[in-house]
Amino acid sequence: MPSQPDECLFCSIVRNGTYVRQGKGFVAVADINPQAPVHLLVIPERHVDSFREIGEFPAREAKRMLEFVADTAREAGLTDYKVQVNVGPTAGQTVFHLHWHILGGGPQPLEDQAHAATAVAEL
Ligand code: AMP
Ligand code: ZN
Repeated sequence: MPSQPDECLFCSIVRNGTYVRQGKGFVAVADINPQAPVHLLVIPERHVDSFREIGEFPAREAKRMLEFVADTAREAGLTDYKVQVNVGPTAGQTVFHLHWHILGGGPQPLEDQAHAATAVAEL
């Protein structure tokens, strides 16, 4: 495993945390302060401070990380969701170990709501 700074919160979660999902090189955890009905964080084992350093990931590992994000959302039962990466303090980054927010489980998409409205009107 790549080196992990002792003082990094997400490195310690990778080492000792409770995961909702684990893959080779990545874990997914529930966000402690959820901003949506489903709010998961995908954390790579490899420590880089932020998305700015994405180039430090070997290409195959970067691809597998994106697949892990998509697979985690699917396994959480989400079809529609947001994937968010905050880069830098003024963009909202508070933990300086790259991570991907998966936010979902909110209101139905407008298209589904329109179908539901049509169904009600036909009753
Ligand atoms: P960011 O603000 O983009 O750096 O995201 C950091 C996220 O980590 C925030 O949404 C926090 O709620 C979340 N967080 C902080 N500490 C923990 C923890 N111990 N376990 C799970 N999520 C955490
Ligand atoms: Zn770290």
